[in-house]
Amino acid sequence: MSSADKPRVRFAPSPTGYLHVGSARTALFNWLYARSTSGTMVLRIEDTDENRNRPELTDAIFEYLAWLGIDYDEGPYYQSERRERHRQAVQQLLNDGQAYLCDANDNEVPGSEMADGRAVRFRTPEGTTVIDDVVRGEVAVDHAQLGDFVIWRSDGSPTFVLANAVDDADMAITHAIRGEDLLSSTPRAVLVAEALGATPPVYAHLPLLVNEQRKKLSKRRDDVSLESYRKQGFLAQAMANYLALLGWGPRDGVEIRPMAEIIEQFRLEDVNKAPAFFDIAKLEHFNGVYIRELDPEAFLAALEPHLAGDDVPWSLERYRPEVIAAMAPLVQEKLRTLEGIVPQVDWLFLAEPIIDGQSWDKAVVRGKAAAEILDTTIAALTDCPWDPESVKDAVFAAGEAHGVNRSKSQAPVRVAVTGRSVGPPLFEPMVHHLTRDEVLRRLRAARSQL
Ligand code: GLU
Repeated sequence: MSSADKPRVRFAPSPTGYLHVGSARTALFNWLYARSTSGTMVLRIEDTDENRNRPELTDAIFEYLAWLGIDYDEGPYYQSERRERHRQAVQQLLNDGQAYLCDANDNEVPGSEMADGRAVRFRTPEGTTVIDDVVRGEVAVDHAQLGDFVIWRSDGSPTFVLANAVDDADMAITHAIRGEDLLSSTPRAVLVAEALGATPPVYAHLPLLVNEQRKKLSKRRDDVSLESYRKQGFLAQAMANYLALLGWGPRDGVEIRPMAEIIEQFRLEDVNKAPAFFDIAKLEHFNGVYIRELDPEAFLAALEPHLAGDDVPWSLERYRPEVIAAMAPLVQEKLRTLEGIVPQVDWLFLAEPIIDGQSWDKAVVRGKAAAEILDTTIAALTDCPWDPESVKDAVFAAGEAHGVNRSKSQAPVRVAVTGRSVGPPLFEPMVHHLTRDEVLRRLRAARSQL
């Protein structure tokens, strides 16, 4: 195959909001197609809406593409810098009689200079446009439904369809892989491209992303921003792996796998048109798998921003990195987000544990013989050797003395010391990282509430 036959795709975001999972999926599918076909990935920023564009939104696009590992071979091109070219294309259509000045009287000579303050409409011919969409099959649209649509606004700016079609033509885009929400604009883009003498790209409209209620994902209703997922501690590799499965699946059915294998497996024709469920529980499961795969140093490095941020519940002076290093192997198996580290370890850095109401109620208020177990444990821990084995034995013995089995006898002690009924193994960290006095103080504080 000569390079002229290789696919050229583009990710063409409009920087009108922060990058969300839907756009990221579109970017990823373009990239997968390019990388699996030795094609070219172009990045084009469709920033023609001057009122809504903000530079930081464009920066965020670069940042999150890089985070996901999506690189590009050409661009970024800025659509706003191509205004003259768009004007020229509209002028060409006017000259050819394929467009007309909107409020011009009918006698106006086609091709007369585009005057400021005049909109231009495309002269839609009669007929039908059939789009042979890779995902959706043939989509036929009767031109009567389109009417003569605006391609140039009276404020001197191109419409989305005009700029999009001209840029795809000029950038020799062979495949336009994009969200299904744009399908309705596609016949117009095809008509404009053909009127300009260009071959429109092959279109592949990716299925909608829906939430648990099968409703289209929305910024207002659903957690969709990549920023939010990164903040919660989703690993980029887990996120990218998960996004690849939204509307596509490998033929061998293996879902969790390195990106190099996903590239190998990816076929654009395997994308299906059924709405794809953005399943946060599944994403968390993927993330847990990727977290467990991190080697100890990488895991600690990944945790770091979640332990040192402004929103941690402890004060900086009390924070001890060596405690985290010791705790890391105990929690790595359990975490599904990196942010989940905080409730696992906060009790080691706080002066008072944050008591979870439900845990308190279940294990202390309604726990069998909880007050007695706390009393006996307090007495035993006052002078037993301060090592994990001895402390554990003392707590279990306290339970046995009151007819409570081992796992249940631990529950009121755990809640009194850590604030929660679930968490990492209790005795080792408690003995190694808290002092005897501190533990006794917490046990007494809990007991005094009963
Ligand atoms: N700029 C459009 C958007 O962000 C996408 C255009 C396209 O992919 O063709 O919705």
